[in-house]
Amino acid sequence: MHPARQFRIQPDMDVERKMQWFRDRCVEAGLPCTHQRQVMYRALLEAVDHPSPEMLYERVKRDIPSVSLGTVYRNIKTFLDNGLIGEVSLHHGSLRLEANNSPHHHLVCRSCRRMFDLPADQVEGVRLREGPPRGFQLERFVVEAHGLCAACAVPKARRNHSKTT
Ligand SMILES: [Zn+2]
Ligand SMILES: [Zn+2]
Repeated sequence: MHPARQFRIQPDMDVERKMQWFRDRCVEAGLPCTHQRQVMYRALLEAVDHPSPEMLYERVKRDIPSVSLGTVYRNIKTFLDNGLIGEVSLHHGSLRLEANNSPHHHLVCRSCRRMFDLPADQVEGVRLREGPPRGFQLERFVVEAHGLCAACAVPKARRNHSKTT
């Protein structure tokens, strides 16, 4: 097995096992596994929408009202630098974060901008017919499927109706 692979959390692991994975990785990286960091990581584990740092901050604040946005930013950077979490892509305007580090692609809602995970095995292999352009070292493919999520696909009239009731 590739050495990096053994550190992968599996999507079917329960939250507590994923939290244990996180604590083990912190110890290995020599990072203090503070309460604040655990609350942040748990919020990411429980998120299904790939939150931005600001969205994550709002969620962490519910558990730790005294937390500052600056602290959340700093911890996100530490998490990213140590491979504890992933960033979805750099071209979405804002950084979007996730704890899921198993191979997967994304479904992107063009209305609410939420992103949902699509397991890699749900997509047939993508490959370049003629290989990458000269000099480009290809590492991985990421597929993004764009459309409307189930909530946004509901006809407007029905949504407006349900809002008023
Ligand atoms: Zn949507
Ligand atoms: Zn994802």
